[in-house]
Amino acid sequence: MNSRNLKIEITPSQGYVLSRRINEKWEFYYTIGGPLQSCCKICGYPLKDDEICNHHQGLENLNLNYLIQFVGYYQTDFNGNPMNKFTKRIIKMRLAEGEKYYQELFLILNSLFKTIKKKHYIKWGSWVPTSNNLLLKVARHLILSNNLILINPLEIIETNDQINKVENKEEYVKKKYKLNKTYNPKINRLINNDTGVIFDDLLHTGYTIGRIFKIFQEFHPKKLIGLVFVRTSRGKHPLYLKYPNFP
Ligand SMILES: [Zn+2]
Repeated sequence: MNSRNLKIEITPSQGYVLSRRINEKWEFYYTIGGPLQSCCKICGYPLKDDEICNHHQGLENLNLNYLIQFVGYYQTDFNGNPMNKFTKRIIKMRLAEGEKYYQELFLILNSLFKTIKKKHYIKWGSWVPTSNNLLLKVARHLILSNNLILINPLEIIETNDQINKVENKEEYVKKKYKLNKTYNPKINRLINNDTGVIFDDLLHTGYTIGRIFKIFQEFHPKKLIGLVFVRTSRGKHPLYLKYPNFP
């Protein structure tokens, strides 16, 4: 699909909608994550008015200024069947060979990013160390096409892939991602006192991005923005049907 046949609009309820052009007509395609009227200020999870969020354990005890934004809510029925249109697209994107859905994902992330960039002066960009080539490619593409300074996370983070998944996610991410003490001192100047964006593919309880934030925190950024493709949580989401702008 060509990105000229896709556009993102903001709905009256301040959500984002992706539309596609078919035979010269714009048709509603699916909703994507946007500013919600009622959501957790820390992790963006939609909440009822007085509800306390218990979906961001991995982001507790962070002492830095940060913001998390994600494109959409990922939900399957645990047999791999998508529960919403956004999930259906993501599954297709994963299965698709080559470039088929890349433009679509890039367009969505880029418009979301540009909305955020209007509010925050973002100077540099990086990503959570990954073997996911799609994440790598999109992150690099977004950083370069928005004229940000690209910081390869492997310059400051050592990753250990030999760690077996343990029950305690906090210990796991601590062992998996460590500050590489032999980093080039110029990194300090690039990050210090400026705002940066860090891309990741999935947000669950926030332990991974929370750990990466902590490592970047060593360089005293002004603010960190986590831009995540999909948000997910354990079990069914009881609220998502009530929020038309939350896929
Ligand atoms: Zn939360």
